[in-house]
Amino acid sequence: MQVFTSVIVLGLCFAAFVITHIRDYKERKVESMISLAQVIGSNSISAIRFQDNDVAKQILSDLRKVAPEVENAGILDKQRNVFAMYTKPGTDTFGFSSQILNGKKFEFSSRQLLVNNDIVDNNEIIGTVCLRVDLAELDKIKNTQYQIAVVLLIVGVGLAFLIANLVQRYISKQLLYLVNTMNEVSKTGDYKSRLNSDGKDEISILSQVFNKLMDQVMESQQKKDEFIGIASHELRTPLTSVKAYLQVLDTIENNQPNKQYLHKALDNVNKLQQLIYDLLDVSKIQSGQLHLNINEFEIDSLIDETIAAFQIVSVHHKITREGVAINQTVSADRQRIEQVLINLLSNATKYSPDAKEVIVYTEKTSSKLIIKVKDFGVGIAKEEQSKIFDRFYRTKGMSVLISGFGLGLYICKDIITRHNGEIWVASEGNGSAFYFSLPINSVKH
Ligand code: ADP
Repeated sequence: MQVFTSVIVLGLCFAAFVITHIRDYKERKVESMISLAQVIGSNSISAIRFQDNDVAKQILSDLRKVAPEVENAGILDKQRNVFAMYTKPGTDTFGFSSQILNGKKFEFSSRQLLVNNDIVDNNEIIGTVCLRVDLAELDKIKNTQYQIAVVLLIVGVGLAFLIANLVQRYISKQLLYLVNTMNEVSKTGDYKSRLNSDGKDEISILSQVFNKLMDQVMESQQKKDEFIGIASHELRTPLTSVKAYLQVLDTIENNQPNKQYLHKALDNVNKLQQLIYDLLDVSKIQSGQLHLNINEFEIDSLIDETIAAFQIVSVHHKITREGVAINQTVSADRQRIEQVLINLLSNATKYSPDAKEVIVYTEKTSSKLIIKVKDFGVGIAKEEQSKIFDRFYRTKGMSVLISGFGLGLYICKDIITRHNGEIWVASEGNGSAFYFSLPINSVKH
């Protein structure tokens, strides 16, 4: 667009320049030729009066030196008869008697200028000087100017193109940076990203708006996290009390249907309690308050004890352990590692309602310990595997029919990452396999 505009503007400017120049040239030519005709006229007065056309011819022949662009000249007498003629060597003769210009002093026709000037003596017109001027010089001027125009146009267009390209690159670079940052924010959910918005141009204004938007999102996120933190904290105490009373009632109640109702109520209270604990953990993670309580402990015994405890509540699945014994004491937060294992076991049984088995497989390499929880359930689609560790993410497949909040894996990931380990999922045959690793350097023998 910029290049196109530059071409048009340059073209218009040049056309105006050429037209003005040619008009000036013509005006100057007319003026000088009329003056020349006047001079010839006044010099020829006595020659006409004395009918001495040799003198008149002599006057005209001086034109060869004085004005070489004059190709034909003539002095006509009162009756418009040719009195003296001049023809520049190498050019054709010209019939001047027919070129009397009906009272006009000059006339331009193709490539020539015709000039007539009366010879006046004592207020009496005694003849006319006629000149025919070749305008080949005008063509030369035009050609030169066209050449200059073409050169200027090429240089102008080239410069415009270069500047447009540089400006466009600058703008594209800024815009791409903006788009990349937005993409990054939408992918990672990291609302702390800010753009440089110092300038006064449109991109800086856009960046300012983006930064303001991020501030608002951060503020509302903070408020939401605060609310979740406070609400789950406030719910925890009454729920613990409700659970305690239900457990007391369970020990004294013998009536069978009542006992059944009590167990249902306790089940739901447990679920509610788990959700509250998860929400509290999420709120702690968000505010950087999830502290690890690092101690040394036997990892094998933690795994075996957790499996045994989990097996008691998991009546439909057999949990087995496979692989090598790790035989290591680890330096980690025992409760939090246990929480991760329980979460993975709980998901493995929850998302494999028709299966009968869950396998915990352990392995040790030179640099890390790997613990895998394998189930034979609904599995996770490939494209969703990278998202299930995000906060509140739940897969779209069969698992939507199973209750959950999408917090467990998010918490597991934070706990494992803070132990410098890794957590991931893989599709292996039917079902899913969740792995987590702990580096050997955070693990002591
Ligand atoms: P929740 O189970 O409470 O929804 P999680 O964070 O533990 O939350 O899991 C996130 C999502 O990952 C689940 O909603 C489920 O879709 C999927 N998922 C987790 N574990 C399994 C599994 N063992 N098999 C199939 N899908 C799973």
